[in-house]
Amino acid sequence: MSIQWKILGQPGADNALFLTVDSGQSVEYLLFDCGENCLSSLKPSLIQSIAHLAFSHFHMDHVSGFDTFFRHNYNRPETPVNIWGPGGTIELMHHRFRSFSWNLHHEQPGEWIVREIDENKVASSRFLTSEAFAISHRLNDIPRDNEPLQAARNFQMEAMLLPHGTIPSVAYRLIESEKQNISPEALQRSPHAPGSWLQALTDPSQDDDSSVQVGTKSLHLGDLREEFLISTPGESIAYLTDFRVEEGSASWQRLCDWLKGTGTLISECQYHSRDRSLAIQNGHMTSDEVGRLASEAGAGRLVLQHLSRRYGTSTWSEMLAEARGKFSKSDFPPEWIDSIPEP
Ligand SMILES: [Zn+2]
Ligand SMILES: [Zn+2]
Repeated sequence: MSIQWKILGQPGADNALFLTVDSGQSVEYLLFDCGENCLSSLKPSLIQSIAHLAFSHFHMDHVSGFDTFFRHNYNRPETPVNIWGPGGTIELMHHRFRSFSWNLHHEQPGEWIVREIDENKVASSRFLTSEAFAISHRLNDIPRDNEPLQAARNFQMEAMLLPHGTIPSVAYRLIESEKQNISPEALQRSPHAPGSWLQALTDPSQDDDSSVQVGTKSLHLGDLREEFLISTPGESIAYLTDFRVEEGSASWQRLCDWLKGTGTLISECQYHSRDRSLAIQNGHMTSDEVGRLASEAGAGRLVLQHLSRRYGTSTWSEMLAEARGKFSKSDFPPEWIDSIPEP
């Protein structure tokens, strides 16, 4: 099982995060934001496999690439496309869906579930391609109650609303389910010879109460799992962009608590520390501030993205040095290494 991530887009241009969550049994693809040209490095078949598109907010640089996504997916057969975003997302998406001429849609497949995240609830609406997206079919609101947004078999997704000037920006955190592995030590001391029965131990479709053939014996799967499986925590990744929290404030502490122990923290890094006043004015963070945030949250590593285009490569490399000054395990995405010199 693993979470693989890739920052889409270039330094100083629009960025997005593409995630692959691979459980060994199934693979799920997620996209966070969809700025201009962000999808150009993904094959159409991958764009058509994205199950969840989660927007932080709807400033143009995070949504300009949506037409490309929509064009590839408007009539996706079988599985719905899931859209997430802050309050107001349902109305915004409805306008986008309707901003095309629809006259050949009646027989087309395509179902879109749009969800908007507020502090206390998630509101949802369903749209159908066969209706030319005309009707917003409201679904029941779901209270948040500190529950994850989405609990899929392989992972759960959480969200936190962060302030971005006068609007909220949604931060997302994905946590892989615990991994179940066969203990080599247990296998060594077992009287049973390894065989096809081992596969049943990690197969989630087989119930604990079922039996499995081990050599000449039929044994209880639950007992075997208890004897042979060891659990290790899954990986975790958080995506934070376009936000500003003041160090030492209650919001800062709340954010650090929420991020506690996150393996990979992907964060905006819009401004150099010398432009802190601009960062405050525009609701963004500076490079030293995100370094400090990663350090206080006990993150495994920090990946910087969404750099201001006002700077050139030498300033970007200074910004990496600033982040590293607060948190040594800071880096730019590996794809950017050739375009920004090491500090
Ligand atoms: Zn932005
Ligand atoms: Zn923004």
